[in-house]
Order: sequence, then structure tokens, then C-alpha cells
Amino acid sequence: MALSYDATHQFVPVTLKRSRIDGFGVFADQAIAAGTALGLLTGESITVAEARRRAQTGQRLMLVELSSARAIDASRSDDAMRFTNHSCLPNARIQVEDGEISFHAVRDIPRGEEITVDYGQTHHEGRLPCRCGASGCRGAL
Ligand SMILES: [Zn+2]
Repeated sequence: MALSYDATHQFVPVTLKRSRIDGFGVFADQAIAAGTALGLLTGESITVAEARRRAQTGQRLMLVELSSARAIDASRSDDAMRFTNHSCLPNARIQVEDGEISFHAVRDIPRGEEITVDYGQTHHEGRLPCRCGASGCRGAL
């Protein structure tokens, strides 16, 4: 099954498909140079307190904290990048600036490779096993 996404927030073409890491993943449709802006992630603007409350529900969520006060819940976003999986050795990073969440390649990404970021600290608090497969994998999220 291929999913569609909001192309106006996506700067490089990607395919959303099953990932060996987890669920659906974001795969590069063309070779991407290091430093390239990949796309934006938008969603529901909520307080960090509300984000923490939602995280306690145990649902699969895509939450990004913008500041100590505000967060974005992108769980129901139409943006492709919400499907970005975690890797302990990622090829992209998340940038938060002026309330905007964007994704950027940190190295050259060949066509067909899954785009990944390091989630850093998550609401799973190390209880979720990591299946990224990278050498040096931390083993948990
Ligand atoms: Zn890992």
C-alpha cells in the first residue's frame, strides 16, 4: 500500500511504504545531497503539558516539542515526514526554528534509502526496543 501526502510541505519526492524498522517509513525517490531541506512537519499546536498527557495514553504518536511551553502533535498530519523512523545512525535531522519543524539531510542519501532521524529523548523513556539495525544501536528508545 502506498500512502499519499501533502506535497506542498515536501521538498524532495519520497515514497511512503513498509519499513523494516517500524510500520511505515519515508524513502527517498531520488538521490539527495547532504544539507538538503527535505520537508516540513506540521500538526496540531498544543502545550507541552498536553503533549505529556497524550504521551501517557500509550498510543503511537509523533510529538515534537517546539519550546519548554509548546509542542506539535503531528500524529494526524498529512505531511510525509511524520512517518520518519528513528535510527541511532540517522541520515537526517529535525530542525526546530521559529515554531517551524523541518527535516534536513545530514549526509548524501542514495535513491531508495529510508530517511531516518535520531528522535533523541522520547516519551517511551527507553522502554521501546530499537530495531534500527545500525552498528552502535543504543538498543532502546
Ligand atoms: Zn537503534
